[in-house]
This record gives sequence, structure tokens and C-alpha cells, in this order.
Amino acid sequence: MADSFTGDAVQHYDVVIIGAGPAGLSAGLNLVRARRRVLMLDSNRPRHSATLKSHGYLSQDGIAPLELRRKGREEFEAYPTAEFHQAMVRSITGVQGEASETVPVFSVVAKGIRGAADRRVTTTSVLLATGLTETLPALPSVRAFYGTSLHSCVECDGWENSDEPVLLIGESDDLAERALLISQWSSDLIVFTNGVGAISEADERALLARGIRVERRAIDDVVGDRTGVTGVRLKDGETIARTGGFVRPRWETNLGFIDGLGVNLLPNGLVEKNADGVTSAPGIFVAGDLSPRGPHQLIVAAGEGARCAAVMNRYLIGPL
Ligand SMILES: Cc1cc2nc3c(=O)[nH]c(=O)nc-3n(C[C@H](O)[C@H](O)[C@H](O)COP(=O)(O)OP(=O)(O)OC[C@H]3O[C@@H](n4cnc5c(N)ncnc54)[C@H](O)[C@@H]3O)c2cc1C
Repeated sequence: MADSFTGDAVQHYDVVIIGAGPAGLSAGLNLVRARRRVLMLDSNRPRHSATLKSHGYLSQDGIAPLELRRKGREEFEAYPTAEFHQAMVRSITGVQGEASETVPVFSVVAKGIRGAADRRVTTTSVLLATGLTETLPALPSVRAFYGTSLHSCVECDGWENSDEPVLLIGESDDLAERALLISQWSSDLIVFTNGVGAISEADERALLARGIRVERRAIDDVVGDRTGVTGVRLKDGETIARTGGFVRPRWETNLGFIDGLGVNLLPNGLVEKNADGVTSAPGIFVAGDLSPRGPHQLIVAAGEGARCAAVMNRYLIGPL
């Protein structure tokens, strides 16, 4: 079939991986090593680009996250059946008339970015590994400190805040649970609800019993200097000294491109899957932050990618 985008024949792959974070890259590496023809499409917007160091990845503790991606991509592309393309996937649809009795075929359309060509390809299977996008609490200076002295992942950056006077700012209803977790690293913690985040009076008393104060007054901004955050300025003018800590973002999955495929989503927007990353739609798999149940960490995403690759390879072999 000639491609209306390029005029060339439409290329067919065993697997199209969408997203080149640790989940997609790890799956890709294992799939090309299983001699699968793999196209990886990535829009180059990694969520963790705000940070210079990532922690907790075995043998790579402290590595720059973009360096981890670069190394992963290099390892993937070293195999002859690997192909990487910088593009934003716009749609995936089932291909009518080309599906065999048991195995569906999909058409994937992607818009090239940074000078790369648009692509339209077909594939026997798809791995969704597009991660999350996040919205930080709407305070003017949060973004400036995010990734250096304000963090979202407690497991990733708790150690660097050990025994420091830290903050937790959030507007969600799980702040008490987050605060409890953070107290493993520092009990000098103040939870700022900005007048919005929900903490029951019983939870507030329980936190106070652990030395954790809840501050419900509205926030004007986080303040700081070149060394990082120095405090939180409230709308009434008082500034409470803090050296950094954690914010609770809201997360979104941005999966409009799979509309109509029959992939079930959970009420929180994540993709429903079984333990192996199999979704409700045959031929469509999921790994990484996009799927429950975390924690949202590089090594967890990479592990899920590897497990999913084994399952996809078996799926592609077909029944006995
Ligand atoms: C500030 C920050 C610091 C962090 N620090 C750490 C840390 O120290 N240690 C740790 O273990 N974890 C850390 N994390 C968490 C970690 O980054 C994530 O858990 C991990 O990157 C998830 O991997 P993923 O492969 O699921 O998705 P991602 O790494 O988010 O990759 C998804 C990729 O998909 C691409 N994509 C999205 N939509 C499309 C589309 N439609 N078409 C094509 N491509 C698309 C994106 O551009 C992106 O490259 C941090 C996160 C943040 C935000």
C-alpha cells in the first residue's frame, strides 16, 4: 500500500512503542533482542526533564535523567530491527479487512517533530508507554524550584531532604497520607493546604501527634534565592521558613489518540491492565507511569517495560 504521507510503501512492524521513557526503552530493548521489528515513536517531552539528578535506579543512582534516556536509546538502536523516530502519535485505529482471524492489525499516525517526517505505519501490536503530564499547584514560583528544591516523588528525593525543615504543598485529598510518608525522612514538616487541600480534623490531630503541623491559610508564593527555597509566603504577609520539600501535582494521561480502540481506563484516567500489562483491547499493551500501580519511579517503569516485552513477544508468536 502506498503511503499518502510519503508516497512510499507503508511499513509494517511487529511492535510500535509509543513513548521512549524507561518503560518504552526497556520494552524496546527486550523486544529487539527477541528479534522483533520495533518502531519507537517519541515526542521528546519527558516529565522528569525538570530535574538534573535522578535517584534510586540500581547502578545509576544520581544519573541525569536525560543521560539515562540517551544511554537507553543508544542500546536499543544498536540492534538491526530497531527504529526510533521523533514524532507525536495522533491516532491509532484498527485496520479493517487486514486483520487475520485472531490477530488485529493497527494503523498508527504520527506527526513528526523537530524536522522529522510525519509517519503512518501498520503494526501487529502497540505498547502504550506515554507516561503522565502534571499540573503543579498554581503558585508563581513553584515551577522555578521544581526539580531542584521542590519535588513530587517522595521515594526519589526524600533522602536529600533528610531531617531538613520541609514543606508539603498540595490541593488534593491525599495530603495526610503523603505527609505520613514524608515523615520517614523528616519530621520537621509543615503541610500547606492553601485553603483547598482536604485534611480531616482527625487526620490533622494524628499528624500533630507526630509533630507535623497543618497550615490551612492561603499561600501567596514560595520564596527563595539561588540556593533554593527559603520559605512559604502566606497571603496575610507572614513567611514561614522552609528549605524545600514536596508538592503534590495533579496528573493526566493524554490518551485521546486511542479513542475508539476499546482500551478501558480507570476512574483516575490510568489504563486498566492485568499484572502483565495486557489491556482490555487485544494487541494493545501498557507499561510505566501510565498504568497502576507505581510507585512512579524509573526502575519500576523499566521493570514493567521488560515484563511487558516478554508478554508481547509470546502474544506475537501466536497460539500453539
Ligand atoms: C521532576 C521529576 C523528578 C523525578 N525524579 C525521579 C528520580 O529521581 N528517580 C526515579 O526513579 N524517578 C523519578 N521520577 C519519576 C520518573 O521520571 C517516572 O516514573 C518515569 O520517567 C516514568 O517512565 P515512563 O516510561 O512511564 O514515562 P516517561 O518517562 O514520562 O516517558 C514518556 C514518554 O512518552 C512520550 N509521549 C507522550 N505522549 C506521546 C505521544 N502521543 N506520542 C509520542 N510520544 C509521546 C513523552 O514525550 C515521553 O518521552 C521523577 C519525575 C519527575 C517529574
